[in-house]
Parts: sequence; C-alpha cells; structure tokens
Amino acid sequence: MIEHLKTFTAGAWRDASGPRYATEYPADGSTVATLHAATADDVNQAVQAAEVARQRPAWANLKPHERATLLHRMAAGIRARDEELAQLQRLDNGKPIKETRALVASAAGTFQFFAAACETLEDRITPSRGDFITMSVHEPLGVVGAITPWNSPIASEAQKLAPALAAGCAVVFKPAEITPRMAIELARIAQQAGVPDGIISVLPGKGSVVGDALVRHPLVKRIAFTGGTAVGMGIARIGAEKLMPTSLELGGKSPTIVCADADLEHAVAGVLYGIFSSSGESCIAGSRAFVHVSVYNEFKSRLLAGVGNLRVGDPASEHTQMGPLVSMSHRASIERYVQIGLDEGGKLLAGGARPAGSMFDKGSYYLPTVIEGLPNRARMCQEEIFGPVLALLPWSDEADLIAQCNDNVYGLAAGIWTRDYKTVWRLGRALQTGTVWVNTYKMFSSSTPFGGVKMSGTGREKGRLGILEYTTQKSYYWGMNESPLAWSST
Ligand code: NAD
Repeated sequence: MIEHLKTFTAGAWRDASGPRYATEYPADGSTVATLHAATADDVNQAVQAAEVARQRPAWANLKPHERATLLHRMAAGIRARDEELAQLQRLDNGKPIKETRALVASAAGTFQFFAAACETLEDRITPSRGDFITMSVHEPLGVVGAITPWNSPIASEAQKLAPALAAGCAVVFKPAEITPRMAIELARIAQQAGVPDGIISVLPGKGSVVGDALVRHPLVKRIAFTGGTAVGMGIARIGAEKLMPTSLELGGKSPTIVCADADLEHAVAGVLYGIFSSSGESCIAGSRAFVHVSVYNEFKSRLLAGVGNLRVGDPASEHTQMGPLVSMSHRASIERYVQIGLDEGGKLLAGGARPAGSMFDKGSYYLPTVIEGLPNRARMCQEEIFGPVLALLPWSDEADLIAQCNDNVYGLAAGIWTRDYKTVWRLGRALQTGTVWVNTYKMFSSSTPFGGVKMSGTGREKGRLGILEYTTQKSYYWGMNESPLAWSST
C-alpha cells in the first residue's frame, strides 16, 4: 500500500490544491508516497492564517519560558519517534540510515538548544544620554517563509523552525518537492506539542510556483533559504524589492589543505569523510583537496586504498557508507561533470562509473570518484558538482595555495590538516570561507554559527544569536523629566 500524505496548511490537515504527485525511493525507484502539490492560493491561505495566528494572544503573549517549553516538547516529540523519522527520511532521499539517524538527533538537539536560547535571550537597557531611560527590545519579524533543499531535510528544517518559533514568528514551509516528508512530520510534532494551529504550515511543490509565491507574498517578512546559488540570488532580488531580510545558505566548492607535516592517517580519513559521506550531496563537501607535493604520492595511495574500501550500497543497511544519489537526473548531471573533467585533461584515479551488480540497477548509484591533473581553473574544480567527485591538486608555495583556494566564487568552508598551530592561524585568516575545520571536517554544533561568504550566501544559522535573525529591534525612551520638556516653554 502506497501511503497518501495530507499536508498541514492554515491549521488543517488536507490535500493541497495542486496536482497529485509521487515521491520515489532513490535506491530502487519505487513509489514512497503520493501527495498534492500546493498552489499560489494555498500559499496565500497559509500566510494569511499564519499572520492571524501569530497575533493571537495564545502565541503572541507566550512568555519566553512558555515558548521554550513548547520547543522542549518538540525535541521530545522528535526523540520519541527517532527511528521512524530516520527511516522515513531514508526513503525520501536515499541517505544511509546511519546518517539519517544522526540528522534526526541533530534536529532534536536544535530544538533543545533554541529552547534554552529563547529563555535566556535578553533585551537591553542602553546607556542613557538624557533625562530618559533607553531600552532596546527584540520583537518577532512576523511570518517567515522557510525554503529548504532535499539533501538533509530534517536538520535543515529544524535549523529554521526552531529559532523562528523561539523568536515568536510563524513559519510557512516550502520543502523540496521530492522530500516533503520531514517538514510534514515536524508540523505534526509541533501540533502535538501544543503549537497553535496556523503557526506552522507546510506547502510541498515546485519552487517556481510555491516558493516564488511565498517569497513574493507581502505578509512574508523574512525568507530563510537553503539551496542553490542561482535560486538564492533570485530570492535576494525579490527580497530587495520588498525590503525583506533574507538568509541564504547556498552552494560551495570547499578546499581541503593537506600540509607537509599533516598526520596523513587522519587527513585521509577526513578527506574521505568530507567528500564521500552523503555521497557528496553536501554543500560543505570538501571537493578540492590541495595536498603538499612532498606527501602527494603517499597521500594519494592511502586515499585510493580508502576509496577502494568504501561500502556503496543499500541505504537501509547499517554498514553502508554511500547510498544512491537523490535521483537519476542528479546522477546524470554528475556524470556530465566527470566527463567535463576528463575532457579538460583530468586523469581518473577511481570511480567515474556506476557500480556493477544487479542490486544497483534500479537505483541512482554512483561510485566514489577521484580525478587528478586538473588546474584549479578547470570547470570541474570551479563549479559545484554536489556529488562524490574529488579533485586532487598538488601544492608547494603557500601564497599560491591561498590564491588557488580563494580563486572560486564560493566561500562556504575549508579544511586544514597540519600539526603547526601557526600555519592554521596564517591559512585560516587568509581563507575566504565561513567555516574552517582544523584537523577535522564536517563537524557541527548548534551553538556555533554557520553560513557562507561570497556566492555561498549571507546570514548565519545556529548559534545563540541565531534567534536574532528572526527579530527586529524596537527602542523605547522612558522620560524621567520632573518638568515639561524645555523646548515648549521657551
Ligand atoms: P535548489 O536551489 O534547486 O532548491 C532549493 C529549494 O528552493 C527547493 O525547495 C526548491 O523547490 C526551491 N526553489 C526553487 N526555485 C525557487 C524559486 N524560484 N523561488 C523560491 N524557491 C525556489 O537546490 P537543491 O537542488 O534542492 O539543493 C542543492 C543546493 O543546495 C546545492 O547548491 C547546495 O550547495 C545547497 N545547499 C546549501 C546548504 C548550506 O547550508 N549552505 C545546505 C544544503 C544544500
């Protein structure tokens, strides 16, 4: 039996009013669920309902500790269903079960973190410059549109929903068309936790229809977007016309630097994890590895041995490290990029093909791929592939290395492998990225802000002050004069 999903819109569980479509399990192409796409009318209804719901006393008058209680309940609601949610997310995007479990745990942690942040967020009494007391208080921005991609749904969704609710906003969600499930389940968990109806709506469907209508809606006062740079730029343009703040978590082409003195065992493990976990479908994938010439050959042979041992297979298996890509069309785009790299003169060291065997026939699988011999200016080293494809580049001169790392439109993350703390400080400060991992890679903490520079985006998610991204500031001047203001009596 194929499940039919209702979605939660404007306080009711129902079918959205657009065409019916099906989601597919990337491992074998089978239908996972059917549901209806939303329309611009659904967007309007959801946003209007959100605007009404957020102003009702039941939401607007909640004290921070009461709002925090709801967020704690949401964390508990996620944990109570953790295995089920991890399995559902695996079916939506084909990520290995171990990864989806980690994403579910991270989502619960995000709600817990923002519950604490919400309770401890302080308004300020500012130094007075007259016979008055000055105060700056944070107020919710209003209705937030949250737009997310398909690669890590529950974690991306939680990173927007938790701080927005903590700030007192209402949220209208537009998950990726092919991975709507986690946003729908979060709405269910929120409702069960006691979040008033209308505060969260979920609108599945096409970005060009649902996402666009959401971004343009006059009552939407902020967009929190994660996705590709081209779409993000379009959203920023519309945001500028509305004078609406947008946070944009966009693409990347992150460099990983292996220095001559690096612990190669650790560096190889980190580079493998950085590019091949999530099958490379990760904005922070370390897709360009710059390895010092003096250790290049040794690093390469250890890396290729590691690649040979990676377990590509059934995402339901506990042992799988790389599942299928999200779709056949995405695999086709990765295959095109590998061909571009080879046409540009790259030498294939590993992968570059689909895995052999009947179990892979129906899924969008692709082998971990390593290519060397390309200059950093090659298209394969410049453009985001969003798949398991690593470019290996030797380096010898530090100034030239920094120039090459920064010679890219993106600026999301970087990795440095060295034993020398001064090298870290020198390189770290020169790299144009939002995150630098030192002797580790792809580690995250709710308490540490995340985001990019250059074409990787603007704004930050996570971190205690992440709530402030969903607030505006209001200033109060409390007059303390014993007599009327002097001006009127002169
Ligand atoms: P995408 O930009 O195609 O889609 C992202 C979301 O935007 C989807 O929900 C989509 O339906 C919606 N959308 C598409 N067109 C729209 C429009 N005109 N108006 C409003 N919404 C629209 O990206 P994708 O293919 O789903 O995801 C992959 C991209 O996401 C990669 O570039 C990756 O680097 C990026 N990403 C970034 C981060 C980060 O935190 N920086 C994290 C994960 C993914």
